Amino acid sequence: MNHIKSVCVYCGSSSKAGDLFKESAADLGKILAENNVRVVFGGGHVGLMGIVSDAALNHGGEVIGIIPHHIADKEIAHNNLTELHLVQSMHERKQMMVDRSDAFIILPGGLGTMDEFFEIFTWWQLGLHDKPIIIINVEGYWTPLLDLLKNIVKHQFARPEDLEHLAFIDKVEDIMLALSQSPKESIDAQTKWM
Ligand code: AMP
Repeated sequence: MNHIKSVCVYCGSSSKAGDLFKESAADLGKILAENNVRVVFGGGHVGLMGIVSDAALNHGGEVIGIIPHHIADKEIAHNNLTELHLVQSMHERKQMMVDRSDAFIILPGGLGTMDEFFEIFTWWQLGLHDKPIIIINVEGYWTPLLDLLKNIVKHQFARPEDLEHLAFIDKVEDIMLALSQSPKESIDAQTKWM
């Protein structure tokens, strides 16, 4: 039995993303729904966000969207979700996305996705949560990010253990295995400094 019941998916809002990225988003939504894992996401109906949420819903999954009022029009708030929360700010959105999830999955995306990734990674480093972070490296999209992170560790601005908290997988099909292998949340807070 998987200990992960609800995952937060961070991904791009661009509808110009390549077909392989779109297929990965659809596959992810389907796999999560088929395995009864709830999807928590930014609530928009655009780009990979819309594809993941539609795929999960179409396969009988639960999807929770959290979107701030001020971008609900721009990102076209998805109206057929299991729950849609309209919140006051980006900060409220991000906090609620974290609170409602047992793990984080990162698909290809743009600046917003990068911001979300670094925020939950730094929150982990600061001991604010101990939830798994899984990066789906579709077509090597996130390899430059991994190289950057390795460079940060090489220059001792972060610890090798920090990188060990991240799981990079190449294929969406491996997501359930990665989730089941992720360590259970520890009650001992991590501390940043060595
Ligand atoms: P993007 O990867 O740029 O397509 O953005 C993906 C999602 O991240 C969208 O729902 C954006 O609203 C959201 N986003 C953009 N900027 C930020 C930010 N500074 N903090 C949190 N989320 C953001």
